[in-house]
Amino acid sequence: MNQDYTPLTICTVSRAFLLVFLSKADMIESDNTVQLHSVSESFPLPLVVRIKKYIRVPYQAVVLTRQNLFKRDNGECQYCGSKEDLTMDHLIPRSKGGQTTWKNLVTACKTCNSKKGDLSPEEAGLRLARKPYRPSFVTYLKSTLRMRKEWDPYLMTAVA
Ligand SMILES: [Zn+2]
Repeated sequence: MNQDYTPLTICTVSRAFLLVFLSKADMIESDNTVQLHSVSESFPLPLVVRIKKYIRVPYQAVVLTRQNLFKRDNGECQYCGSKEDLTMDHLIPRSKGGQTTWKNLVTACKTCNSKKGDLSPEEAGLRLARKPYRPSFVTYLKSTLRMRKEWDPYLMTAVA
């Protein structure tokens, strides 16, 4: 985490340990059931560290790709929840001036997408599971497979 407790990144244990060891970061959460050993000492495994000096980070935009869109939508059709045959669906169809933006795109299965065709979701009688949004970098931190429950409280505060 940054000095102000905003999440920065997920790093390796050795990097986190080194930052603490060199007094560049404070250990905020550790796993005391696992010990790291040096020749003469042992240390708890760092889980969350906070660097001591604030780093200015530019806003990290998530690139709009098919894969990132599916990730934002948990790999589910936003109309029926299917996880099969996923496509990108423009809420306002391109033929009606709809743009390729985070807020105009949702994950839809082939069936729902063709049912919707050139209509708006309302016109096609489809209901969205949730409003599409531009995901933040933290959304993607949260979707990593190596997520640990100890990180939850620190990521919660960062959700915009
Ligand atoms: Zn569907």
